[in-house]
Amino acid sequence: MPGLEDLYREIILDHYKNPRNEGELPSPPAIKEQGFNPLCGDEISVYINVKDDVIEDIKIAGQGCSISRSSASLMSVAVKGKTLSEAEGVIGTFKAMMFSSENNGPEELDQVTKLPSNARSLGELIALQGVVKFPVRIKCATLAWNTLALGIQDARAV
Ligand code: ZN
Repeated sequence: MPGLEDLYREIILDHYKNPRNEGELPSPPAIKEQGFNPLCGDEISVYINVKDDVIEDIKIAGQGCSISRSSASLMSVAVKGKTLSEAEGVIGTFKAMMFSSENNGPEELDQVTKLPSNARSLGELIALQGVVKFPVRIKCATLAWNTLALGIQDARAV
């Protein structure tokens, strides 16, 4: 039986090689936000179609490392069909996972019990938890999420 780390690596590689919701949406009407991580060179464009407060569609375009790409793919699956508030909740939970694990130190990273209590709702996103062992990659992992957060702000401002 493969270890948890192998499983996580498989999930990340799968989303890197077969990115979900890749592409663009006509903007307008879609909301488009762009993010850039100069530390690594990751670039991302997040497109969302919001109707009645629901993210009806999301597309991701851009280029970057495997962490940034797979995180964006995982994110797109996690928030598609969610309300703006629900999506913000997922963003908050994900960033809490990145942040709290960062503070816990590497020896505690593999212990599921050290995760925020609501981390189980993250599903496959939990695979990215291993990234916190490499602090420089946290910006790669959170790039898509910060960019989506901007898009949600835009949607609220309409
Ligand atoms: Zn990167």
